[in-house]
Amino acid sequence: MSISTGRDGRDLLNRRTFMGATADALASPLLSDRGLSSSAYAFRHGAFDIRVFSDGHMIVPASMLAIGAPADKLEEVLRRTNAPTPMAWPAANIPLIRVGGDLILVDVGDGRNFQPTEGELLASLRLNGVDPAAITKVVLTHSHPDHLWGISNSAGELNYPNATYHIGGAEWNFWMSSDVATSLPADFRGIVPRTQRTLAAIAGRVIFVKHGDEIVPGMKVFDTPGHTPGQFSLALKGEDGLIITADALTHEVISFEYPEWVNGFDLASDVAVATRRKLLAQVAAERTKLLGFHFSYPGIGYAEAFGSAYRFVAA
Ligand SMILES: [Zn+2]
Repeated sequence: MSISTGRDGRDLLNRRTFMGATADALASPLLSDRGLSSSAYAFRHGAFDIRVFSDGHMIVPASMLAIGAPADKLEEVLRRTNAPTPMAWPAANIPLIRVGGDLILVDVGDGRNFQPTEGELLASLRLNGVDPAAITKVVLTHSHPDHLWGISNSAGELNYPNATYHIGGAEWNFWMSSDVATSLPADFRGIVPRTQRTLAAIAGRVIFVKHGDEIVPGMKVFDTPGHTPGQFSLALKGEDGLIITADALTHEVISFEYPEWVNGFDLASDVAVATRRKLLAQVAAERTKLLGFHFSYPGIGYAEAFGSAYRFVAA
């Protein structure tokens, strides 16, 4: 598996700038609450009642999502987004799904442990009358900080104490291996200790899943590797289908219109590009609804064939 690295010094500088900016922001006092919403976008899909909560948003250099992309094309893309250039503001959309007797969260945000513009999920759930102790299942698409680090509080106690935690076995084994740091680009190695501590905190409640398994009837796990080795997405039965994905598609313009651009957060870029293309071809052909963790809130829409690639059409 190849590790994606910048093609020139500027890209590496951008990666360092990103990690450095995150560290600086965490060292300063936390931002005050940024206006939590007392409502959440709600819709029904088949047997599933879904509400989309926000954990806030990330701030990353857009060039990290498009390493080596032609500058004029990237500029044109950024002009069409709301983020102040040269940054991207990926959203953090977290679906809460009620089905049968289950209340299921898909990823848990960063718990304010990674970027100060994230970590709103718990407060937002409470504000909307959802008791974190009532969550029965937490599905973890992969183990990056913005998806995982919200599992426990500063005392190390689980924020969702009664849930079982569903994660890919390959993902778990990758991050828990004693030499995982050597598989990561140097600037990402700092996330390993907290990631391992966080996963260790759920060891007694974890359920390993694999491609084809169902979390509950009608909610199927399928592999979308490349971003991390064991990342999966979810396919939910109903109408023409609903796919919930985290970082197989990270940006509603870049990932759809330029799926071959190298995303600096993809651990194995060649695998990630193949995953993106396969997923886009499938959902466009079958008109499957998408819910993307990082698309503009609430992150729901469709992929349409467009030129030699696709475009995202919000639902
Ligand atoms: Zn992410």
